[in-house]
Amino acid sequence: MDRAGAPIAFAGGPAPSREQLLEAPLRWPRPSRLGAPLKLEGKLAKGLQTLELSCVGDLLEHLPHEYRQARALAALEPGEQATVAVEVRSIAGRAVRRRGMRGLVEATVFDETGSIVATFFNQPWLLQRYRKGTRLVLHGTADARGRLRVAHHAIGSDLGGEATAGAVAHYRAAEGVSSTQLLTLMRGARTGLRDVLEPLTVAVRMAESLADRAGARAAMHFAQEASQRGAARRRLAFDELLFAQLALLLRRRRHADSHPTRALAQPPTVSARWLARGLPFELTGDQRIAIETINKDLAESRPMQRLLMGEVGSGKTVVALHAMLRAVEHGAQAALMAPTETLAEQHFATVARLLGEEPVRMALLTGSTTTTRRSEILGRLRSGELSILVGTHALIEPDVSFRELAVAVIDEQHRFGVRQREALDAKGVSHVLHMTATPIPRTLALARYGDLDCTILRELPKGRQRIDTELISGESAREDAYERLREQLREGRQAYVVCPLVESASDDGQARAAIAEFERLGCHELAGFRLALLHGQMRLRDKQQAMAAFASGDAQVLVATTVIEVGVDVPNATVMLVENAERFGISQLHQLRGRVGRGEHQAICLLMAPTGSVRCRALVESSDGFRLAEIDLSLRKEGELIGSRQSGMGQFKVASLPDDGALLERARSRARAIIDEDPDLCSPLNALLADALERAYGEHLTRPIPA
Ligand code: ADP
Ligand code: MG
Repeated sequence: MDRAGAPIAFAGGPAPSREQLLEAPLRWPRPSRLGAPLKLEGKLAKGLQTLELSCVGDLLEHLPHEYRQARALAALEPGEQATVAVEVRSIAGRAVRRRGMRGLVEATVFDETGSIVATFFNQPWLLQRYRKGTRLVLHGTADARGRLRVAHHAIGSDLGGEATAGAVAHYRAAEGVSSTQLLTLMRGARTGLRDVLEPLTVAVRMAESLADRAGARAAMHFAQEASQRGAARRRLAFDELLFAQLALLLRRRRHADSHPTRALAQPPTVSARWLARGLPFELTGDQRIAIETINKDLAESRPMQRLLMGEVGSGKTVVALHAMLRAVEHGAQAALMAPTETLAEQHFATVARLLGEEPVRMALLTGSTTTTRRSEILGRLRSGELSILVGTHALIEPDVSFRELAVAVIDEQHRFGVRQREALDAKGVSHVLHMTATPIPRTLALARYGDLDCTILRELPKGRQRIDTELISGESAREDAYERLREQLREGRQAYVVCPLVESASDDGQARAAIAEFERLGCHELAGFRLALLHGQMRLRDKQQAMAAFASGDAQVLVATTVIEVGVDVPNATVMLVENAERFGISQLHQLRGRVGRGEHQAICLLMAPTGSVRCRALVESSDGFRLAEIDLSLRKEGELIGSRQSGMGQFKVASLPDDGALLERARSRARAIIDEDPDLCSPLNALLADALERAYGEHLTRPIPA
């Protein structure tokens, strides 16, 4: 008979009533072992404190940073530091006649390849512990006499796994606690893993083929097989990425909920008129798409949070101005904030020029604005008489208040901090457009901003052409390069020669210096041409003179350092020759190259570097800033690019970008699906997930975005 179908029989009396059942004290499971404090003393306690490990849970979360394969004894080289997995053949103690020494223990140990004498200082008790036949994992240094001076040691079976010949986990250690000791502690704390909660539903784990969380933790510490550790790593990395994406999504939702938003949905008037007859050029396809996308955002009653990426010169200002005009034609106001006064002034001039005849009242507000002018501006801003305010941080100061700020544009958004964005939020802004000229690869943008909407201006305005880029290696190629440069000069064009150094450094004979090159070229390869010199150590007046000479064409060649990276615009310059190009970063080279090809003539960029320079090759192959940023990212590591300070969310213990890019994509769509189904994560199914998220990101969930 099926016992499940049997009626419930209660021993000793009638069945309890429903009320009684409900009121019965719930029997909670015993407290989690993870919270148990680590009770240790002396040096060990100190070491654990340094590592900030205070309870069992902390300890088990301290994951190995690498796994070292045990070395075969026969292969040990004198002086080598190694981990070996061995068995004790014999062990003996020796007295040592030196003060402070409690004797030496010598054990003859062996593996399949040979044997060695292992020496332990000051640990006489080992004689009792490491008897013949004990399997040990030893870490130490092989000395010239063929003995192993042991620094850390543990009994093999304490480390888990029958065979100790596999890989041994290595931990970040600290004064007082070694990696091997940590491994032994892990072993002791192992039962705590049973209390690791599983934040993901079975459905999600099945769909993503993920190991369970506790098992994954265990495998990270103790698994011998690389494949098990791989699966474990994938699971833990997925969790980190998923939590980060969920946090970003939730933060965004909460931001939207707490910001009453004006939908700018009326048909265009001023903006349409301006587009139709105000512009001296035709919009690029990308600009059109960006404008349309932003129009759709603005028409929504949830706040726009869009990142507009486009290289210098890609025409972001036009797109930004259009968004601002949408605010203006709804009777509201707009602000454009730039990180420096120079940029703010440039923007003000560009916007004024782009507006042309269009009667839009605007003002510039920076730190240098006079007090009288400032209070006049603030008054007109409050009354709503001013429609557009361009400026620096000055425009988010507490006493600046708008009548109705519908659109804010932040240029070079990464240069503003969280507090500044909070200050902007406090002005009651509805829609925000963030702009950046630094291309952010998708992987990074995803990790940093999650669901922040992105629009890219890839297409450069008409008239800008692709620059022929070549890698020049070796002396004869250098001669050819100078000949090509001279050719251009004879045709009336101009050239840049960029050097990594200002002055020759005695300890760096390999790199070319601007001052020396200026003199050398003037006497040799470029004798007879008019040269100018420009570097950061010159006096301001001399710099201005050099720039003016080059801009007017008086100087045909500008020998310079990277000071020309930004802001120099001489359309007649068609050659960029970069010395020691291998010393520059990809984005720097890309910026440098952007100094030529700004006129009607075909431009060339000659990169003097060894053939092996991967970065230079990337420049030769691609002129797309975004592609180059991707390559740059893959050559570097995430850590250099995502500072935890910048994002507050980019630091992962297990996941590593860009390598885990594919996993990040999965985590992102999974996060989306979870939030779509359960927007506030309040379903009981997601209770543990919500908990884990709160613990990991609690304080970030209410921050403004993007942070
Ligand atoms: P950035 O993206 O660096 O902010 P800007 O918006 O300042 O670029 O534009 C750079 C220059 O290109 C400006 O002088 C601008 O007027 C001009 N420009 C913008 N869009 C176009 C276009 N579609 N065709 C021609 N010139 C354009
Ligand atoms: Mg700009």
